[in-house]
Amino acid sequence: MAPPRFPFQFNSQAANTAGIYALVASLWIFFSDRVLALFVTDLDKLVVMQTVKGWFFVAVTTALVYGLVHRHITRLLQTEASLQASEERYREVVEGTDDLITQVDANGCFTFVNRRAINYFGLSTDDCIGLSAFSFVHPEDRERTNAWFARCLTARTDSDSIENRQVARSGESRPMLWTVNFSYSPDGHLQAIRSIGRDISERKLAEQALHEHLRMKSEFISTAAHELRTPLAAIMGYTELLLDQGVMDGFDPRQKREFLVTIEERAEDLNRIVDELLDLSRIEAGQKIALDIRPCNLSDVIGGVVDDFRTRFPARTILLRIPPQCRHNCCADPVRMRQVIANFLDNAVKYSSLTGEIVAGCAAQSDVCRIYVSDQGIGMSPEQKSRIFDQFYRADTSDTAIGGLGLGLSLARQIIEGHGGWIEVESEVGRGSTLTAVLPQLQCGEG
Ligand code: ADP
Repeated sequence: MAPPRFPFQFNSQAANTAGIYALVASLWIFFSDRVLALFVTDLDKLVVMQTVKGWFFVAVTTALVYGLVHRHITRLLQTEASLQASEERYREVVEGTDDLITQVDANGCFTFVNRRAINYFGLSTDDCIGLSAFSFVHPEDRERTNAWFARCLTARTDSDSIENRQVARSGESRPMLWTVNFSYSPDGHLQAIRSIGRDISERKLAEQALHEHLRMKSEFISTAAHELRTPLAAIMGYTELLLDQGVMDGFDPRQKREFLVTIEERAEDLNRIVDELLDLSRIEAGQKIALDIRPCNLSDVIGGVVDDFRTRFPARTILLRIPPQCRHNCCADPVRMRQVIANFLDNAVKYSSLTGEIVAGCAAQSDVCRIYVSDQGIGMSPEQKSRIFDQFYRADTSDTAIGGLGLGLSLARQIIEGHGGWIEVESEVGRGSTLTAVLPQLQCGEG
């Protein structure tokens, strides 16, 4: 039961002061006349003295009352000022926060919304007050939110949290994490629900990205096994053939040499895959790709990789364009640059048809050196273009997709960024792609 309300509250200090005053005043009134009569015998003088004494009493009482009232009012004003300051502090916290703060009554209608909530819902405070809080819950989340709400009320929960999407008047919806406090009357009826809502869009996006990364990683493991098995199967097949003397007698020395060349090529493929996997494991362990930057002639590096590809893919037209201004030494890691150019060329070969021309070359500008590979192949959509540097990303992951681990370009980017440069991609679906590694022209030791 709530205590009964009195129009004023008993204050023991005030009662003590009043008591002391009554006692002193009574003693004064009682004794002052008798004391005066002892000392003043003349009746006229006595009347005058008694009048003066009366005025003196009034003056002292007035001064006392004034002092008390003044002190009381000063205290009241101080209390009011500190209450205002404290309210102001709370208002600043409530209105300055990035969170949505709301209060709803037992019917689920808003009785308070802070500025952030007003801005989010896109309504004025007056429009919001009285509206049902459930009308802002995303339709797909309403049933779950209602069920949660009912569970909390049945269990008389004091506080709990729930995630749901809120829809603003603009139609925009965002995921929110609500921390909700339920307030009950002493007889157990719901009185108010106070909630703090935090926009968790960024967290959700990060979770989605992590989920996608894990999905791509598990897909990567089966792709990697498949990629390893293909050259391994070729190596095993040709080795078995070469060991079978009876079958081998039917082949001439040129054909036998071709078998050995195929074995060597497939072993190189295996080596490249293992190198990429080792790079990946180092990156996963938080290490950067180690670079051995020294003076080197990039035109020789590009020429060397192009020669290899011409040998490996004799049916392909691979043009080399090295202008004279590119033929000087610059600062780079030649082994890693070979890896980058080989990756560009490998993709150009994989993602274009036999008839498409492939051009590899470089262009020197005052402060940068540009190394490019262009093809006339399948090209990429803007969405694919924006993702090709993601680890494990492959535009086509179907069973009939062209082989690949989805690692080459992410490693290439790390290598080029390690040189202080960047990779540019130009591509159009059906028209081909150009990948350009841009390296700053550094003095060795600067970068
Ligand atoms: P992969 O080993 O799968 O080729 P990369 O990291 O080298 O891995 O490339 C990632 C993806 O980028 C490829 O799977 C492909 O979808 C796309 N891609 C890269 N280069 C080209 C290109 N020249 N033409 C079309 N698509 C390309």
